[in-house]
Amino acid sequence: MNRWQAKDREYIWHPCSQMKDYESFPPIVIERGEGVYLYDLEGNSYLDAVSSWWVNLFGHSNSRLNAALQKQAASLEHAIFVNFSHKPAIELAERLVKLLPEGLTKVFFADNGSAAVEVALKLSFQYHQQTGNWQKTKFLTLTNAYHGETLAALAMGDLDLYSKIYKPLLLETHKVTGPDCYRCPYGETRDSCQAPCFEKMEAAVARHHQELCGIIVEPLIQGAAGMKIYPSVYLKKLRNLCNQYQIHFIADEIAVGFGRTGEMFACEHAEVTPDLICLSKGITAGYLPLSVVATTEEIYQAFYADYNELKAFMHSHSYTGNPLACAVANESLNIFAEEAVLEKNRAKAAFLTEMVRELTHDHPYIGEYRQQGMVGALELVSNKATKEGFEWQKRVGYQIYRRALAKGLLLRPLGNVIYFMPPYVITETELEFLVKGALAAINEYFGC
Ligand SMILES: *Cc1c(COP(=O)(O)O)cnc(C)c1O
Repeated sequence: MNRWQAKDREYIWHPCSQMKDYESFPPIVIERGEGVYLYDLEGNSYLDAVSSWWVNLFGHSNSRLNAALQKQAASLEHAIFVNFSHKPAIELAERLVKLLPEGLTKVFFADNGSAAVEVALKLSFQYHQQTGNWQKTKFLTLTNAYHGETLAALAMGDLDLYSKIYKPLLLETHKVTGPDCYRCPYGETRDSCQAPCFEKMEAAVARHHQELCGIIVEPLIQGAAGMKIYPSVYLKKLRNLCNQYQIHFIADEIAVGFGRTGEMFACEHAEVTPDLICLSKGITAGYLPLSVVATTEEIYQAFYADYNELKAFMHSHSYTGNPLACAVANESLNIFAEEAVLEKNRAKAAFLTEMVRELTHDHPYIGEYRQQGMVGALELVSNKATKEGFEWQKRVGYQIYRRALAKGLLLRPLGNVIYFMPPYVITETELEFLVKGALAAINEYFGC
């Protein structure tokens, strides 16, 4: 343990960690980043295969983003956002409206993903209260969902690891069994099916629609559950169903927005416009905390009235619309526009698919390799025929994580799922290093 690790141990409580684990394996103290690499105090490099918790798009310490940040800091670092505004936020809102699926015309700022989810839930609830549907007070969620860790966001999720102990504090939701394409109970495959599993959603909505304000989903990929990828037809059906019963379709694109799935926003694959969309992680390309909820004119109008009607949306965060974050977000959008990012990603994604398939097709413990755009995931199983996983107590993912680190690779497995979600600037050579390193770590663990 070096001096900094000792001080870290003395003063810091890390997120999502059993602090006792750090006794034998202290945190790696990072000194600098460049491109897809992070460098520790001793100069060791780690290829950041998870984009530092899914936020980084264009590499660490990117020169264009650095310049945009420095320029903004030299003129305005922050200003109150009620009764005041500023160019970086105005420009960002306008650009987002032009990029987002048609019909999303108003942008509300918050400062992290969970806060965006809270905003979307409150907007949906208040909309129904103010349009005479007082009985619409509940939300419907999917199994295996993850929507953040503040209490309302946690209530929308379904991962016991994060929520179990807090159950007495959480809002009640209606929960529907979501798609599970690797273990499809209908015997279908995700590339060709018409989402017969949507019947579960239809049945639940038919039963509860009178009390439902909104349905919240992670479009195309249930991330934290282990990069569970499902077909876009599910979202098309959901859009129609929500229309039929006046229920809001809330798209949590916090993880998948900004190009991750191959399109700028995942809902584009289904050609649907949600009523509310939450964006965060990639919005500042990994630089600063920022989030937005974009919504429709119809929802906006339900809050638009004389002050005395008390219909305003009384929600704020101190750092709402922070100019530094907005300026970096604008420069990130410039990079998308000027550097043909989505096009280049398509070639990289195809390269990744081909390489992983070639290297893993007869692996004894890899049950499935699935990929959507710049997200790839290997699901490890103890038995390929039964698709049985490993008990969580074995901490297979953690063991592989530690072996990968020793090879200069930062993975962050989700249970038995080893995933790749690299910054978009990754090269083919670096992708190869990533995949081969991950496989080496997996094989070392299994001794194969
Ligand atoms: C990360 C994430 C959130 C929460 O965002 P935070 O900024 O971590 O609060 C919500 N929904 C999804 C789908 C996410 O991946």
